[in-house]
Amino acid sequence: MADSADVIVIGAGVQGSSLAFHLASCGASVIVVERSVVAAGATGRSSGLVRVYYDLLAEARIAWQSQAWFREWGDRVGGDCGFTKTGFLWIEPAERLERVRANSASHRAMGADSTGWMRPGCGGWPPASRWATTRWPPGSPSPGTRTRR
Ligand SMILES: Cc1cc2nc3c(=O)[nH]c(=O)nc-3n(C[C@H](O)[C@H](O)[C@H](O)COP(=O)(O)OP(=O)(O)OC[C@H]3O[C@@H](n4cnc5c(N)ncnc54)[C@H](O)[C@@H]3O)c2cc1C
Repeated sequence: MADSADVIVIGAGVQGSSLAFHLASCGASVIVVERSVVAAGATGRSSGLVRVYYDLLAEARIAWQSQAWFREWGDRVGGDCGFTKTGFLWIEPAERLERVRANSASHRAMGADSTGWMRPGCGGWPPASRWATTRWPPGSPSPGTRTRR
């Protein structure tokens, strides 16, 4: 291991690994110090879901921009990250429909295909019979995606 570097990153979870990758891509010399193994923490326990539907617009914007990295992993990073595009269904209580619609409108404005709608008649599908939901149909340019672990 090198004795010194421009930057020393502590922790090889997704944050530290990404930071090290991007710094190195900018020409910095980087050492990553990990007390266990790569992805020993939360990263290795993640469900691997990559989504854009977040209440906070700032968060949704970051997720939206980040998604291109998963889609273009081979070109940008190299190899296969196991990213698979799927549909995405987010279920909320009916009383939150207007909030869901507002979120969807914000997400559409940044380019994601998001729809918020009332779906009555889902009786028998717990825990309620009426839903406010958002969706990204499979084939649309968006968020219902996950990575394989
Ligand atoms: C069960 C579960 C499911 C999740 N599902 C999802 C999901 O589907 N989608 C999603 O986006 N997010 C999900 N998350 C959240 C996501 O996994 C975390 O936000 C993310 O992995 C955090 O990454 P991190 O690099 O900040 O931390 P970590 O992955 O915890 O990495 C920290 C690293 O630092 C090392 N470290 C700590 N202290 C030191 C030290 N002193 N010296 C050296 N090394 C040290 C640790 O060993 C570890 O490897 C999930 C989290 C959990 C727990």
